[in-house]
Amino acid sequence: MAKMKCAIFYGPMDVRIEKVEIPIPTDDEILVKVKAALTCGSDLKTYRRGHPTMIKPPSPFGHEFSGEVVKIGRNIKCRIKVGDRIVCANTAPCGYCFYCRLGRESMCEDLIYLNGAYSQYITVQKRIVEKNTFIIPKDISFEEAALTEPLACVVHGIEESGIMMGDRVAINGAGPIGLMFVKLAGLKGAYVIVSDLSKDRLESAKKMGARETIQIQKGIDQVEEVKCRTEGERGVDVAIDATGIPDIWEKTVKMVRKGGTANLFGGCSSGTTISIDTALIHYHEITIKGIYHHTPLYVKKAFELITNRILDARQFITDTVPLDELIPTLEKVGRQEGIKYKIDVG
Ligand SMILES: [Zn+2]
Ligand SMILES: [Zn+2]
Repeated sequence: MAKMKCAIFYGPMDVRIEKVEIPIPTDDEILVKVKAALTCGSDLKTYRRGHPTMIKPPSPFGHEFSGEVVKIGRNIKCRIKVGDRIVCANTAPCGYCFYCRLGRESMCEDLIYLNGAYSQYITVQKRIVEKNTFIIPKDISFEEAALTEPLACVVHGIEESGIMMGDRVAINGAGPIGLMFVKLAGLKGAYVIVSDLSKDRLESAKKMGARETIQIQKGIDQVEEVKCRTEGERGVDVAIDATGIPDIWEKTVKMVRKGGTANLFGGCSSGTTISIDTALIHYHEITIKGIYHHTPLYVKKAFELITNRILDARQFITDTVPLDELIPTLEKVGRQEGIKYKIDVG
């Protein structure tokens, strides 16, 4: 049996790079040789404390990738051929449940997940192949295409935020997701104000088109800092959380103008709560929303933004590192060094 290198998640703080057998695809799967895998904040969270839905240990690890089709199961009927360069999303909805019929496929009651991007080969389920897989154009690199999945989440978040041309938009958090929000909000014609703790990340935010940046430090009132950058200090039209920190969720709600929208996008640890001044909802008529994950429509839109270089995915990839350095690289992501890293699986 031919072997391959693969990162296996055994539980929090226990990920091992092992030699395992190359998986043999069933009739309902394809086999893909991974060409580019990207680090992601969710993988860091999973590494540190596990994940409630995405992954059940022990399991191959990693979910953002692109690669080359090696084998196609007999029951897969679609346009993909052996040798094609493809990118897949990490999930696919069923299409039949209550939420799918409602058009809210990110809430699908039978969402299937795919893990194993940090690996030389990966098998992909039929449903993901049919609903959420794309052939990469020749002039787009594997690593650029691999940004499709996280970008799809952000496209979903942007489309649900109701940004209008000329709006003032606050983005709280300038990690990879926050930076993608900066870029897309700019494309929507917004004047973007970004807050973060890290000077380096704020520099990246400027490169992505942020008009103003606020470095959060002791003695700085983040809400006031954002509000004083709007006319009459009334607050922003749209505020987006990209931190997943309950305290920042509360601040995100407070910096919105009357009638504005707070998009609490970043996922917080389970069991956490926030409190909101009821007057903001009643007298100020603000809209508060949460957005999770993506749908096939947003995956397609993200893929098109990348392949047409409306968003230049290369800006989001800091460096390339070998698979053996996966854990130190995730730690780097945890220390907020760099944006995303390409994992070279060899
Ligand atoms: Zn991700
Ligand atoms: Zn469904």
